[in-house]
Amino acid sequence: MIKLKINNKHLVIIKKCITYIDGYLIVNKTYSLPQNYGKKLNRKLVKAFNKMKKDALKEEINLKILSGFRSFDRQKEIYNNYIKEDPKNADNYSARPGHSEHQSGLAIDINNASDAFINSNEANWLDRNVYKYGFILRYPKNKSNITGYKYEPWHYRYVGKKLAKKLYNNGLWETMEEYFGIESKYL
Ligand SMILES: [Zn+2]
Repeated sequence: MIKLKINNKHLVIIKKCITYIDGYLIVNKTYSLPQNYGKKLNRKLVKAFNKMKKDALKEEINLKILSGFRSFDRQKEIYNNYIKEDPKNADNYSARPGHSEHQSGLAIDINNASDAFINSNEANWLDRNVYKYGFILRYPKNKSNITGYKYEPWHYRYVGKKLAKKLYNNGLWETMEEYFGIESKYL
């Protein structure tokens, strides 16, 4: 186990090739997960999503999980297909195997993983409310140079209510990269 501090502020722990900062598992272009990591969605995430789904329905907002846990092999398949079709841009929206947050079991795509979802009632509802259930908008608008990914209003990461509220930042989403002072770049 390796322990170190960033800016004397955040505690980084690397255990079995997995990086945790202040206890939060980190996956991005810099930090990857082992090939055999994970099996399914995190139980707390599922519980939080079900509560959110129920509350959203009262406002006639229909939410469903489109994509949840993904294995390394499944991610490899998806990524390779995108790279074949769109070699120049695929890295802006598809993670290389080992680097997808979906492999952590802590991320979900909701309803529709395409630009058509942008500004939909569901996307707008999620933007205002997800943090109350412990989710964050992982790849906000205008932060692609920081996260390494284009705006994805369908992709949410479960972090728990405390950090979610901080990153929601009264509607001006802060990224995990900014908050923890880390990069997201392939080495
Ligand atoms: Zn996703």
